[in-house]
Amino acid sequence: MTNPILSDWKTPFEIAPFDQIGDEDFAPALDVALAEHDVEMKAIAENPEAPSFANTIEALEGAGRDLDKVLSVFFTVAGADSNPKRQELQRDFSPRLAKHWAEISANKALFARVADLWARKDDLGLTPEQERVLMLTHRGFVRSGAALEGEAEARMKEIKARLAVLGTEFTQNLLADESEWFIELSEADLDGLPDFVLAAARAAGEEKGAQGPVITLSRSLIVPFLQFSSRRDLREKAYLAWAARGANGGKTDNRAIAAEILKLREERAHLLGYENFAAFKLETEMAKTPARVKELLMDVWGPAKARAEADGEILTRMMHAEGGNGDLEPWDWRYYAEKRRRAEYDLDEAELKPYLQLEKMREAAFACANRLFGLEFEPLDVALYHPDCLAWNVTRNGQHLAVFIGDYFARGSKRSGAWCSAMRSQAKYPEVQTPVVINVCNFAKSTPALLSYDDARTLFHEFGHALHQMLSNVTYESISGTSVARDFVELPSQLFEHWLEVPEVLSEFATHVETGAPMPEAMRDKVLKAATFDMGFQTVEYVASALVDLEFHDGPAPTDPMAKQAEVLAELGMPHAIGMRHATPQFAHVFSGDGYSSGYYSYMWSEVMDADAFASFEEAGGAFDPERAKSLEDNILSKGGSEDPEDLYKAFRGRLPGVEALLKGRGLAA
Ligand SMILES: [Zn+2]
Repeated sequence: MTNPILSDWKTPFEIAPFDQIGDEDFAPALDVALAEHDVEMKAIAENPEAPSFANTIEALEGAGRDLDKVLSVFFTVAGADSNPKRQELQRDFSPRLAKHWAEISANKALFARVADLWARKDDLGLTPEQERVLMLTHRGFVRSGAALEGEAEARMKEIKARLAVLGTEFTQNLLADESEWFIELSEADLDGLPDFVLAAARAAGEEKGAQGPVITLSRSLIVPFLQFSSRRDLREKAYLAWAARGANGGKTDNRAIAAEILKLREERAHLLGYENFAAFKLETEMAKTPARVKELLMDVWGPAKARAEADGEILTRMMHAEGGNGDLEPWDWRYYAEKRRRAEYDLDEAELKPYLQLEKMREAAFACANRLFGLEFEPLDVALYHPDCLAWNVTRNGQHLAVFIGDYFARGSKRSGAWCSAMRSQAKYPEVQTPVVINVCNFAKSTPALLSYDDARTLFHEFGHALHQMLSNVTYESISGTSVARDFVELPSQLFEHWLEVPEVLSEFATHVETGAPMPEAMRDKVLKAATFDMGFQTVEYVASALVDLEFHDGPAPTDPMAKQAEVLAELGMPHAIGMRHATPQFAHVFSGDGYSSGYYSYMWSEVMDADAFASFEEAGGAFDPERAKSLEDNILSKGGSEDPEDLYKAFRGRLPGVEALLKGRGLAA
């Protein structure tokens, strides 16, 4: 019997036949698919014919069809519906896959063919999209070190291996410091804590084997504690422990590890011919250079700091009025900000929730996609991996465009967070394939299913990523949909969140679950206004971290990262009562791996663009302006990574984004 993963899928739109696939099918299917891919790679690398775009780049694009099938099915269920068997398979697959990809990028014969094509690119008669795919393929090989020889090649291997070890140590040290520390709370220590914090503290106590409630250093517990505890002495104690994670001396101290990581990254960048690690890292991003990132961050820093300082004065007066002494400290900010929030914007979640029905919010997202892009959604009856999953056939003018799958409810078998992935990406080579796109969320399951406002925003966010996949219209899969630069990929998702805030969308779809009445205007205004609360503080703590990350990598590696951090903060004039969102010994984004190193800025880079992009709708005919919608699809959503993101944005907006719309959106404009 053929393996159901590798056989032809005779299902509607060739969605994976989940009801026929058993966990025992994954390992044999992977064995076959990897072996096939090896054969394909060898045939391309050792082809006796001279390299051509067709026999090299297109051959690479077309290879690994079975591997795509196995991995898309496996990683869908491993993330959204795991079990012990799938976890075991994942532990087994991960190193094998890492080795497989590393071998391909180190294949000298393959690289020689790509390099030959790159050198002759102007004579090959390529379309702009083909030239882009060639450039990206060549650049990928070069950046992984394929062009290095001899000693440099050996050293690069050593550096990569050592960085992997250091990244893991950094993460484990941080976890150890977070899990070892806790304080037990007596009856008198519970002042000010609301029921939900108490319940979380009790649950943490049970986990620690304590008699009663405890406070740990997990963000989900310590932040609410700092917001609500009226015991200034306990807030101070907890905050100082939280701020000291990874810097407590002894064997879990991360400071020397951070220094070694920065040094090795610099050496890696030098081996590849870059001035420093930031120059290496930003080459593939929309920002391109550290100078442009710094300019953006500094444009935001001034207004954010001014707002934070004004807010700090208000909070200090509140503290003094209550009899608190001295300066507002970092362990005081959240407490007084929360008091102020309750006084000025009080929003009762329990009153809000009945207006945010999951089904209605999903309808709202579909309706926006219909008005903007003409998409229609028709329920699809098909077997998926879990009964909570729903599928739709997405059409336009009667033509099938994509399959959309929504898997919205939390369950024990699903990892946390929310994400969008393509089980099949859009492409036209080697043959036309339409996308199968899935949104996975972790909304609490209830009947009827009701959301918080944050949940509703998450639903719109992930649907924005889905639109990027579903409206993709390129030839080659490697540049399809969300295969774009890290600082560009959140533009479609964050932009789509803005349609949830459109008053006519809320009044049509945010209706009461029992009465059907639309959300009252006063409640809607409060929801929208609350979104900008304490933005001075949030922006300052974020931008400080982003600038420290950038300074670490833009220039000679600092031998003492803590001294460098202090220097950067002093130069910025960091407000006394605000700490960095992630100080160096805890900065997992930057030190656990390479993902966000000199890239922590990208959240804000994307936000600048989404605010500026939505403003262009408002400046035109409003949120549903047809010309703007068409331009968004033509220039951004359909293009994937087929052009430089800067060119795509300029084509959509007529210019590059400025920070004005972001400052306005965050309530920081003068
Ligand atoms: Zn996202």
